[in-house]
Amino acid sequence: MTSATRPSQFVIRPEKDTFLNEENPFEAMMSRFDYAAQRLSLDPGHYKVLRSPEKQIIVSIPFLRDNGEVEVYTGYRVLYNTSRGPAKGGIRFDLNVTLDEVKALAAWMTWKCAVVNIPFGGSKGGVICDPATLSNVELERITRRYTSAIIDTLGPDSDVPAPDVNTNERMMAWIMDTYSMHKRHTLGRREATGRGCMIVTREALKRLHLPIQGTRVVVQGFGNVGSITAQLMEELGLTIVAVSDKSGALYHAKGLPIRELQQHVRQRRFLSEYKEAEHLTNEDMLTLDCDVLVPAAMENVITSQNASAIKARIICEGANGPTTAGADKILEEKGVFVIPDILANAGGVTVSYFEWVQDRGGYFWDEETVNSRLERIMVGSFEEVAEMAGRHGVNLRIGAYMLAIQRVATVHRLRGMYA
Ligand code: NAD
Repeated sequence: MTSATRPSQFVIRPEKDTFLNEENPFEAMMSRFDYAAQRLSLDPGHYKVLRSPEKQIIVSIPFLRDNGEVEVYTGYRVLYNTSRGPAKGGIRFDLNVTLDEVKALAAWMTWKCAVVNIPFGGSKGGVICDPATLSNVELERITRRYTSAIIDTLGPDSDVPAPDVNTNERMMAWIMDTYSMHKRHTLGRREATGRGCMIVTREALKRLHLPIQGTRVVVQGFGNVGSITAQLMEELGLTIVAVSDKSGALYHAKGLPIRELQQHVRQRRFLSEYKEAEHLTNEDMLTLDCDVLVPAAMENVITSQNASAIKARIICEGANGPTTAGADKILEEKGVFVIPDILANAGGVTVSYFEWVQDRGGYFWDEETVNSRLERIMVGSFEEVAEMAGRHGVNLRIGAYMLAIQRVATVHRLRGMYA
């Protein structure tokens, strides 16, 4: 349907008034989606379909504490859209998990897979809990109980889990064991998201004619994504002047020793105990004088409150949803080059797709093959997003949404509707 034949009653999100909060992650996703859909003149039917999650599961997770008491936690699994292939999405264990957050993360997975053009849909899961207060045995019980509660959706042809905040390969092994999935090849996956962040930042520097040497980077979050991004950027020749975790931030004008900090965190857990650097708060760190800022921790850290104080020339969104829609506007006015999450952190799901392909075909790719294929996809996707943004005169985030929505909508159009 062209815009000329579109029914006049086409209304963008009639219940928009029910979303009031800048920091609601689903609202953050939806406001960018709406704008990109308008710019694409998306068919109203596809608009309605693509703005609604396909399936939302809420489960209770009863489990035994080590002290013999029974506790019941809440878990979610959302399949946002599976028209392009089986759903793929991480599982987050965190106290701040909400259904809206999981819905937003599942939508971002959908757009992300479409941006890098891999045949997956998007899903996400979460359990409301504080892993720091749980023993390993308790974590295992929760993971297995959560898995059994959502077992009907899981499977290599329907919904494939992955690690996210506070979950790791060991927990994936518990999930696979509970599900009895066969062993998967995992070469290159652990560092894939960070590698993707490094690659797109390098491409952004090239595009802006900025040098590698002397470029100062600030990385928020020192977990899987943040610490690997920092390490690979350091290896590329960038200077990592600050890193942080939830305990606080470290700063050194001449550059921090990233490998040493990784070792420190493995032994002592938190960066705040490291003595050989200046200590800052997370909030102050975000507004440091630097060239590249990598938010790689949580959502909503760059908001309309602090965006005008950001000094970085490039922001590479390692985390999902670190920038609110209100902040986008301010950053754009300041000319900050934002590499959006659905492009910047797509390296992880891309290598998960490689694992899936290897599992199904019985191939075994060495790490070099995995990394060179990842490089090709990330560079190619960066170019496609930049081209889309340039053609429509929009920023990279809206360009990425437009590319993704167009790809998902095309499949819907071809498949038709089962109604
Ligand atoms: P993680 O649990 O390994 O690490 C999170 C890090 O952020 C930790 O260092 C933690 O201390 C820190 N942190 C938490 N709250 C903070 C705060 N308020 N201020 C500063 N630091 C804080 O998680 P991860 O897997 O690295 O995921 C980080 C982000 O990247 C999340 O948004 C996640 O959805 C996204 N992501 C992860 C992957 C992946 O492959 N793991 C892929 C794509 C996107």
